[in-house]
Amino acid sequence: MKLDDNIACMVDRQVLERALIDTLIEERTQLEEQLKELGTSDRSKGDFDPNFADSSQVTAERGEIEALRLSLQERLKDVDHALKKVSQDNYGLCETCGAEIAIERLEAMPTARYCMTCATAAKGSHR
Ligand SMILES: [Zn+2]
Repeated sequence: MKLDDNIACMVDRQVLERALIDTLIEERTQLEEQLKELGTSDRSKGDFDPNFADSSQVTAERGEIEALRLSLQERLKDVDHALKKVSQDNYGLCETCGAEIAIERLEAMPTARYCMTCATAAKGSHR
């Protein structure tokens, strides 16, 4: 690889990372809003007419909302973690080996914490 290509790659990466970070900040705001909405709608259900729907349906709905809330909270945790790495100036670096995470991987998953090699190794050890 020529040196010129390397420099072009680095600049590209910074631009792309910046765009991904912007997406993450935006996503964080959206997640917080969604969680806030779920929180209030849940509380307003305290005076929900029990005759309006049969209880099993209500329970199922609450279960769905709870599952959604949990997945939003998980996602928010991931986004927060990624943004924390941004503030520590190590966004896009693998938390295991410190190598740069491939930009393609970050584009597919902006909250990626490990490089492909470490993620694959971790997955393998769980099996
Ligand atoms: Zn790694």
